[in-house]
Amino acid sequence: MIAKTTIRVLAMAVCIVGGCLLINAQNAREIAPRVFINPGHGGHDSNDRPSPFLNVGVGDTVPYYESDSNILKGNALMRILSKKGYEVATTRINNTSADDLDLFEIMSLAANSGADMFFAIHSNATGTSRKTNFPLALYRGYTGTPAVAGSDTISALIMKHLQGNKATSWVRETPVLAGDWTFYDWGPKVGLGVLRYNKLPGLLSEGSFHDYIPERCRLLNHEYCWLEAWNQSLGIDEWFGKEKDYGLGVVAGRVLNEKALRSDSEQLFGDDMYRPMNHVRLTLISEASGKKREYYTDYLENGVFLFKDIEPGEYILIAEKASAELSRTALHVEANKVTYSNVKVQLAEGM
Ligand SMILES: [Zn+2]
Repeated sequence: MIAKTTIRVLAMAVCIVGGCLLINAQNAREIAPRVFINPGHGGHDSNDRPSPFLNVGVGDTVPYYESDSNILKGNALMRILSKKGYEVATTRINNTSADDLDLFEIMSLAANSGADMFFAIHSNATGTSRKTNFPLALYRGYTGTPAVAGSDTISALIMKHLQGNKATSWVRETPVLAGDWTFYDWGPKVGLGVLRYNKLPGLLSEGSFHDYIPERCRLLNHEYCWLEAWNQSLGIDEWFGKEKDYGLGVVAGRVLNEKALRSDSEQLFGDDMYRPMNHVRLTLISEASGKKREYYTDYLENGVFLFKDIEPGEYILIAEKASAELSRTALHVEANKVTYSNVKVQLAEGM
């Protein structure tokens, strides 16, 4: 695959003559890939589908809007890509009705942004009593024959990294990749409005299912949304040939109590049958430097923890609750990867 940046360098080099060629080719080489992000929905209005739900960790009903996790992922992706040397444009950084732009406006902004790819961020819902959880990519066109070349490849790269998330429980072992003309039975070449006028390679990512209660609890955790954005960035890096550039790693997982069964969802997949542990202190210690970093799991019934920008090397991960050590694990952290380490403990309920 030839990265788009290479194509741009070539295009600039061949259209320029004489002594300017070298200088302009040099400048062209400095042009960063540009990604256009569209975090889905917005505004906390009726159009934004509010879904309050009982959160066991809080002991009360809490609000959930898909737009909140979409904007968290979108803003995180923007910061991650900027740090990685990309140029980034987005449709919104706040979550108000005013910045919930109409679809044609979004596509006009994307077209005028000079971006090399378009990326719409969402999560999914079955809308029925049947629950599931897997990543889904939708690109414009028929499945296997995208309307814009490359969209199926970018989709596969990003979904591969989302599927690799072991801080969640997936129902399938592989993500679903589909062209929206095939996926929706809406008539010939109708498809998703947000992709309709799109001329850039790209996709709409349904990262997971927010109506699956354990996943909704995770999506309330800002670092879990950051983790999805990081995984999206790994796929984007592969598309632009930048997968070796960043040099730092991530450690992530969740703390679960195997003696306490989760009861807030009728359908539970994999380790989601176990209750996540709130208020657990995780300490990550570098074997090389002795440097420590701490993270406390929140009270929102997800048990998620995350450490970002970790130097590659050997580490010890210690989990503690109320000064009692729950576990101690040796970890090997690699650059540009996520090291997953789910902590499973066996504590009598109520401890
Ligand atoms: Zn959505």
